[in-house]
Amino acid sequence: MMMRRVAASLVPPWLEPLLSAHFFTACPLHRDAPRSECNMFCLDCGPASSSFCFYCRSDSHAGHRVIQIRRSSYHDVVRVAEIQKMLDISGVQTYVINSAPVLFLNERPQPRGGGRGGGASAASSSTSSPYTCEICSRSLLDPFRFCSLGCKLAGVKRNSDTTFVLNPGDEEPSDGGGIRDSSSTAAEESKSGRRGRK
Ligand SMILES: [Zn+2]
Ligand SMILES: [Zn+2]
Ligand SMILES: [Zn+2]
Repeated sequence: MMMRRVAASLVPPWLEPLLSAHFFTACPLHRDAPRSECNMFCLDCGPASSSFCFYCRSDSHAGHRVIQIRRSSYHDVVRVAEIQKMLDISGVQTYVINSAPVLFLNERPQPRGGGRGGGASAASSSTSSPYTCEICSRSLLDPFRFCSLGCKLAGVKRNSDTTFVLNPGDEEPSDGGGIRDSSSTAAEESKSGRRGRK
């Protein structure tokens, strides 16, 4: 029982599906509705699910742990407030967008050329920071190790001196009520037996 795959214990099963999912497409089931953009992802359905819209959420994911993906300059981000309850995000650079701290899901393509030592053009804004992502070498604003969840995933797989799991060995969700705007969550919580924790 102790001999389970190490990587699996360091990475929640929903993380890779989350990072490879496509967001901000129109939901095929609710195309004509105003909020049909697929910007949500269900951690409980994980690999069995993909991105889905506001309406799919109430139809199929009531009471599940759902996170909402947002967009910054065409890149997918998730709010720190939403993801930090589910995932150990230490080491990942956070950015403030619309006054909320967020993380990028995946590494962003960066302009080639220039880089270290090369750039005669001096156009590379990236040489000013001493901090870089361990995986993709993107320059970081602060002393973090990774630019995104995707790069941290690569880091976890590479040397496993870091983890995504908040409490290794304790698979139990720490609370059932992480999602504020869902009226169905409260009902689901009492059904599954209330936990004393806050
Ligand atoms: Zn839908
Ligand atoms: Zn679900
Ligand atoms: Zn990176």
